[in-house]
Amino acid sequence: MTYRAPVAEIAFTLKHAAGVGRAIEDGLYGDLTEDLVDAVIAEAGKFASDVIAPLNRVGDQHGTPFRDGAVTMPPGWKRAYRDWAAAGWNGLAASTEWGGQGLPHALNAACIEMWNSASMAFGLGPFLTMGGVEALAHHGSDDLKRTYLPKLVSGEWMGTMQLTEPQAGSDVGALRARAERAGDGTYRITGQKIFITYGEHDLTDNIVHFVLARLPDAPAGTKGISLFVVPKFLVNADGTLGARNDARCHSIEHKLGIHASPTCTMVYGDAGGAVGYLLGEENRGMNCMFTMMNNARLAVGVQGVGIAERALQQALAYARERRQGRHAGAGGSAPIIAHADVRRTLMTMRALTRAARTICYATAGAIDRSHRADDKDERRRALERASLLTPVAKAFSTDIGVEVASLGVQVHGGMGFIEETGAAQHLRDARIAPIYEGTNGIQAIDLVARKLPLSDGAAVKAYLDELRETVVAVAAVNDPALGHTAARLAEAVECLDRATAWLLGRLEKEPDAALAGATPYLKLFGTAAGGVMLAGEALAAIRASGSDPAGRMAIARFFAENLAVQASGLERTVVEGADSVAEAEAALA
Ligand SMILES: Cc1cc2nc3c(=O)[nH]c(=O)nc-3n(C[C@H](O)[C@H](O)[C@H](O)COP(=O)(O)OP(=O)(O)OC[C@H]3O[C@@H](n4cnc5c(N)ncnc54)[C@H](O)[C@@H]3O)c2cc1C
Repeated sequence: MTYRAPVAEIAFTLKHAAGVGRAIEDGLYGDLTEDLVDAVIAEAGKFASDVIAPLNRVGDQHGTPFRDGAVTMPPGWKRAYRDWAAAGWNGLAASTEWGGQGLPHALNAACIEMWNSASMAFGLGPFLTMGGVEALAHHGSDDLKRTYLPKLVSGEWMGTMQLTEPQAGSDVGALRARAERAGDGTYRITGQKIFITYGEHDLTDNIVHFVLARLPDAPAGTKGISLFVVPKFLVNADGTLGARNDARCHSIEHKLGIHASPTCTMVYGDAGGAVGYLLGEENRGMNCMFTMMNNARLAVGVQGVGIAERALQQALAYARERRQGRHAGAGGSAPIIAHADVRRTLMTMRALTRAARTICYATAGAIDRSHRADDKDERRRALERASLLTPVAKAFSTDIGVEVASLGVQVHGGMGFIEETGAAQHLRDARIAPIYEGTNGIQAIDLVARKLPLSDGAAVKAYLDELRETVVAVAAVNDPALGHTAARLAEAVECLDRATAWLLGRLEKEPDAALAGATPYLKLFGTAAGGVMLAGEALAAIRASGSDPAGRMAIARFFAENLAVQASGLERTVVEGADSVAEAEAALA
């Protein structure tokens, strides 16, 4: 079963959840129209379904052989990447000043979903390049921008993002890679990086590494980290490629999933030091890296949506075909989709996937508003909204990617465990997304410790108020098709409100108690927000013609009555569970 991009669904969510429709009305996107949005999504969907999706299995089976320092990408990948870049997809959201198309980040997020549904290993490389483009555009000198941006925007070169070292994973401040001033304005980089995605490959002629390293006189921890642009091949003044830099791939990892994404150990300075160019200011590298990372975190969340969508499509197709058992009304054996338990599983998969999509697209929409709104205060509020939602988008959606892919295996029964069906690959691929780009545990800590206190709690309060407004509107519709949707969502939002107040009250005095509840809190946040946003989509569908109001009301109701009801348990876990975590030491001895 291959992938067909759900273009109508994606367009609807983009216009309503991400607020692209309203942003177009407000004039935020210049002369962009809803028709153009539809056309871009349709074209991306075609490319993802027809060109990339068929390469997913090949990539999984073939992997990326490594020999003599070089990585060979799977058959068909180079051609597909070049066609993809030539069609302008890499620079969709990049500035027109550097050859991009200047289109909304929200639209790019929708395309990223489709690239990653088609193949997570394919979609991963380009969004790291896009993160590099953002960092360069914001923090680079004119010279660096002129040299690297046009080719990174066009996709002629790809970028990497290099933080991790053996002793420095979540604790980035522990990194040891060194940068020495060369005296001519450039730097010499030495050290080792591990787990570097697309650190070496043959898709492009040059690879631009964004490397974190420490100057000899730098303060300890994250305040002493600088970011450097380190190209695989140095670039001559006329833009042609020069000498090979002193940076090489030492080996690649053998992994559970995303086999076609080369994960490299990189070594710098075998011959005295790789030439590096400072991005931003010395010792302020984490600032620049956060520009890359925030983008990449949302994109990883979108990967969760993408893999969930693919697993759902495959499970639905299988459930319509596979016949087992009897069911009232069906003569002979029934397709397994007729059985209530299988239908519940499929509905859970669909409802979770759509909830994650609404959250990710809404985050991307907030990012756009934070860049493009005329009013300064509106830009600030939108930035806070994006900051608040980014850890939720990343962690909630990638957990959903794993859960939905696992349910997809279950729908296949024994065949799900057999590689031929492809269901197992989705689960293997999905498993990395809760780990990289900051583990989901770290995202939960970020949400609780840094995002809830934004503007003294006003940012999260404003969000809760908006959720309540939607719930009131759902109640006012009073349509029997919505069942108990409004009541269950109102309860979920109140659970989130109480858990938020509890955490904010403890953060300073009892930080361990607060952080013990961070992961269940993030799930509570995603559950309440996702449920309300699905109900908001149902309301939008009632107003708009031809947008499947009955189907959307059914999904919103299912989510509210079957999944949002978990909110009260999650609230209890946050508020009452901290003590048992504190006392768990003895149990783990
Ligand atoms: C396939 C793959 C691709 C990757 N690509 C890249 C890349 O391109 N560039 C790059 O720089 N890195 C990359 N990484 C590295 C990835 O980002 C790290 O693996 C990740 O950040 C976690 O670091 P770690 O593996 O050292 O785990 P650790 O930091 O050792 O964490 C182990 C566990 O402890 C928890 N933990 C750690 N610290 C804390 C804390 N303070 N509080 C609470 N819990 C904590 C974590 O949540 C996790 O569950 C990649 C990794 C993989 C596997």
